Amino acid sequence: DIVIDIEGVSKLYRMGTETVHALRGVTMTIHRNEYLAIMGPSGSGKSTLMNMLGCLDTPTAGHYAFAGEDVSDMSDDDLADIRNREIGFVFQSFNLLPRSTALHNVELPLIYAGIRAHERRDRAMEALEQVGLGDRTHHRPNELSGGQRQRVAIARALVNRPSIILADEPTGALDSKTGVEIMQLFEELYEKGNTLILVTHEEDIARHARRIVRLRDGLIESDAPND
Ligand code: ADP
Ligand code: ADP
Repeated sequence: DIVIDIEGVSKLYRMGTETVHALRGVTMTIHRNEYLAIMGPSGSGKSTLMNMLGCLDTPTAGHYAFAGEDVSDMSDDDLADIRNREIGFVFQSFNLLPRSTALHNVELPLIYAGIRAHERRDRAMEALEQVGLGDRTHHRPNELSGGQRQRVAIARALVNRPSIILADEPTGALDSKTGVEIMQLFEELYEKGNTLILVTHEEDIARHARRIVRLRDGLIESDAPND
């Protein structure tokens, strides 16, 4: 069951007279319930590929099918729709609303999806319980530890039951012990059937994944099971 199918994807950035080839023909397939890490040195194209996979940006050339739908030439509105329905994002910096409770932060994607208040609340509670924060639902981000904030962000990513969870350096802002706890949570989510894509430059984080894709100069240098 293929969820992501990209073929010959290139991305060019023009800056004045200069052109940067951030991706130079990347081809890969990701199936449901894979656990993948995308690695590579700074400038190798990780963020560009992540923006592509996350339907935040479209390729200059090549094809991208998400859950069988061609997203290569989609309008911004249609891309936003795919992101809201199909993709859970987790960022290094958590990106929570600082004045809102954990519960409200997790409810946000459901508000965009037009889900009614009662169901929203139930589903947000359920997602917070899933990440071990059932007793912190009315805390605001500044009343939570870094690890708890990232759990709220993960609950927000899960609440729409997305096809993939895309995590960009999810432990980058955490101490190493808290980072390990977050990686244990990702492991549980993987075992429950979620599809996880991590973007990281840290070997210690990537080794948790079952498959590692290494980028170099906008190309896949290697793509192999991690065992
Ligand atoms: P990584 O995430 O691995 O550090 P990026 O995808 O950010 O790599 O960048 C790949 C290449 O594309 C780099 O040479 C970078 O400078 C360039 N690049 C990335 N984003 C832009 C942009 N918005 N405009 C111009 N060049 C960019
Ligand atoms: P970092 O995790 O390194 O702090 P950012 O959180 O700034 O990175 O975001 C990485 C990319 O994701 C950027 O291209 C940004 O535009 C996009 N982005 C950030 N927040 C959101 C969001 N809430 N929804 C969708 N895209 C986002």
